[in-house]
Amino acid sequence: MASTPKSETAAAEPMASSDAQSAAKARAKRLTHKAFLEAVSLHLRAAGKVTNVPEHVLSIAEHTKNEIIVNFPVRMDDGTIRMFAGFRVQHNNVLGPFKGGMRFHPSVSLDDLKALAAMMTWKCALMDIPFGGGKGGVQCDPRSMSQAELMRVTRRFTHALGSNIGPDYDIPAPDVGTNAQVMVWMMDTYMNTVGHVQKNAQRAVVTGKTLNSGGSKGREKATAAGLVHCLVEWAKANEVPLEGKTAAIQGFGNVGGNAALILTKYGVSTVAVGDHTGYAHNPEGFNPHMLLDHVKEHGGIADYGRSTPISREAFFSTPVDFFIPAALENQIDEDEARSMKTRIVLEAANGPITPAGEAVLLSRGIEIIPDLLANSGGVIVSYYEWVQNKRNESWSSEKVAEKLEQAMVHGYTKVSAFARQHQCPWRTAAYAIALENLATAYAERGIFP
Ligand code: GLU
Repeated sequence: MASTPKSETAAAEPMASSDAQSAAKARAKRLTHKAFLEAVSLHLRAAGKVTNVPEHVLSIAEHTKNEIIVNFPVRMDDGTIRMFAGFRVQHNNVLGPFKGGMRFHPSVSLDDLKALAAMMTWKCALMDIPFGGGKGGVQCDPRSMSQAELMRVTRRFTHALGSNIGPDYDIPAPDVGTNAQVMVWMMDTYMNTVGHVQKNAQRAVVTGKTLNSGGSKGREKATAAGLVHCLVEWAKANEVPLEGKTAAIQGFGNVGGNAALILTKYGVSTVAVGDHTGYAHNPEGFNPHMLLDHVKEHGGIADYGRSTPISREAFFSTPVDFFIPAALENQIDEDEARSMKTRIVLEAANGPITPAGEAVLLSRGIEIIPDLLANSGGVIVSYYEWVQNKRNESWSSEKVAEKLEQAMVHGYTKVSAFARQHQCPWRTAAYAIALENLATAYAERGIFP
């Protein structure tokens, strides 16, 4: 769910000081939120080159439709009143209602959310989910807040957003720093803004809820399950037996932790892990159940024991078969990409590789299963949850799992076929397929008036 702040990254090899300074400056520039936003545009433009999408669609896609900022006061446990900044960025709703997570993290910024909202549009368009793209959040550190404070922040934020969200308009979900409980608070707050008669029809205003409050079976593990389906497909296509293979996972929250759990079923052991509290190595493989329990209790992987603490640099250079970044964006830049010893990177996080890092990985023959595909399981099962809420249904775990697998295999097959046909990186293929879907809708509907 979180990662080591970039400031903890040790300097690279010794260099002449002016070289070192300019390299550090270039690196800092590459890792800003603005650069993340530019990276998404870069991916879009690269995709534009392999499709016949008209220029006006590209330029529409480079802009967000609405950017909402709400500043609101919250009473803290000690009686003081603190101001918070909350955001909701709505990128595009041509293919369906805006859809995407709510992030509670100190690094939340408008530029970051603009990039993440756009990625949701592309993720849904790629995976044939009839939703558009949005992302939002609150600039705060949920780890330093009590449950009661977190609840008040969530409720006040939801209230401030008012009718900017809605079950047929914009549907939030969990993201970094939020979970099923936060979603239930959002749902309940939203429900209380409508009349009694309409209350229950509002359940679908958020997805990723607890099971009792209208969540879907399989939603919590969905992102990790979808990621593993991609790995299984890749292993089949490349005739790589998964049994006995190793993985490194950065971020041990819902996605990273569940990925480690599911991987054990295929005989893949996680030998290196890391999060905002540190990095650790265990050549025998971590026990994901025990590590997840430890993280739940202590807030991070630090002091888990049964492993050797290692540096961030050592983590990235640990030889593994599969590397899974499941933390924040911009984690794999040139230095990390140069040091990584893996065959494939599966992007469980959104935007974990910078364009410079990606160029290095691809030049070294390391494959990348891009975020739009690799982590789409979450929003796919969010869609199933929304459908169940709308129809007053409750699907079995088996039904959800089966439908998710079909959707992931279909998405994987589309991206791999496009990349092969156009001889382009998988990321470009994923963006191109999504872009073509959006362009078709614009061509059919025209531009109003
Ligand atoms: N936050 C997740 C993502 O980035 C899930 C979004 C959703 O379910 O709407 O894909």
